[in-house]
Amino acid sequence: MTSSKSLFMRAKKIIPSGINSPVRYYPPYPFFVKKAKGSMMWDVDGNKYLDFCNAYGALLLGHLHQEIISDVKKQIEKGTLYCAPTEIEIKLSELVSKNLPSMEKTRLVNTGSEATMTAIRLARGFTKKKKIIKFEGCYHGAHDYVLVKAGSGAAHIGISVSEGSIDEVSRNTLVVQYNNIKELQDVLEKEKDVAAVIVEPVLANMGLILPEKDFLQNIRKLTSENDSLLIFDEVVTGFRMSTGGAQKYFGIKPDITTLGKALGNGFPIAAVGGKSQILDMLSPEGNVYQASTYAGNPISVSAGISSIQTMNTLRSKLYPKLEKNCKKLVSAIGDLASDMKIPHQINSISSMFQIFFTDNPVVDYTSAKKSDMKTFKKLFETLLKNEVFIAPSQFETVFLSYAHSDEDLNKTISAYEKALRTIKS
Ligand SMILES: *Cc1c(COP(=O)(O)O)cnc(C)c1O
Repeated sequence: MTSSKSLFMRAKKIIPSGINSPVRYYPPYPFFVKKAKGSMMWDVDGNKYLDFCNAYGALLLGHLHQEIISDVKKQIEKGTLYCAPTEIEIKLSELVSKNLPSMEKTRLVNTGSEATMTAIRLARGFTKKKKIIKFEGCYHGAHDYVLVKAGSGAAHIGISVSEGSIDEVSRNTLVVQYNNIKELQDVLEKEKDVAAVIVEPVLANMGLILPEKDFLQNIRKLTSENDSLLIFDEVVTGFRMSTGGAQKYFGIKPDITTLGKALGNGFPIAAVGGKSQILDMLSPEGNVYQASTYAGNPISVSAGISSIQTMNTLRSKLYPKLEKNCKKLVSAIGDLASDMKIPHQINSISSMFQIFFTDNPVVDYTSAKKSDMKTFKKLFETLLKNEVFIAPSQFETVFLSYAHSDEDLNKTISAYEKALRTIKS
């Protein structure tokens, strides 16, 4: 019989650790998916789950959103990859630029990692400077420029600098604390060779950590004053916090922006964009090289166009509903935990939240690391038993989708109640 257990044993023999991205593993073995639809996933063992991982935020509209699927099907009939330009690529970039006006020009890529890699190379090419500054716990993908004190799976496993990454590269990545503007100011005063500061405007890869008041504004100010570029990594926040991303939400104009995840609502597409002057540095006109066989492939591009059009059409319903649903979960879970006298913090904004088991506010990597991981593990396991799937790590975020119904939310609250009771006992 095919079970998750037997599939995992088989997978381990042929796929390192049995999974294709480290965050997908949790002990003793993860469930293997059979199918998904709307707010639900089904595994091969006959269980179903309400999905609150939502592909790490990518599925803003839920699994198999009908319009997107139907547009993609139409495109598939016309060919899947040309490696020659198409009109739909222009259309997608125009839509991106209309929604995020700071992205005057965009290059389409396939993953968030490619987008941040290109953003950083562009910043170095444009400023002729070498170093970059990132914040502790921010995750910008799995490449050497940014795998230093990264969040997400790297924080979960406890990898500060990945083995195999080159010291000459990682020592040019300076790391400062999130929400610590003084430290950033000090580093920028000392270091004259900083090409860019890259930041997740809302830190969604260390659990969820919100920018304190004026933190982002001050980063904008300091980067401008020091002739460094500001890169907003909106791979999570783009189209999730608003159709204009976190930059619209907070009213800040970065020099370069990266998008991914919700841009394709389940199809692999990402983008790097910003001021024309900067983006024009890209080859062949410029000398900053970037290329990809699958970049701008018509399937992902049609998914991107369909996603943005759907999100734009639904905008006045979509974002208020997500925010209302998120608040409902957060306040119910918070009340339950308080009633049971479980020390906790819940950070939340728009359609994202995370609970930390600690007495202290969670504002950065250090404070997030102090929360009780064993308790979080228990929470995850009990939620799973009660048909609620969240990302299996304290250093990830719970993501809502448009597909969650009121009934789904009520089920989720009672699953959290059971999980918190288990923790208490
Ligand atoms: C997921 C993520 C990335 C990397 O995107 P991939 O598509 O997984 O390469 C980059 N930045 C942020 C903020 C992310 O959450």
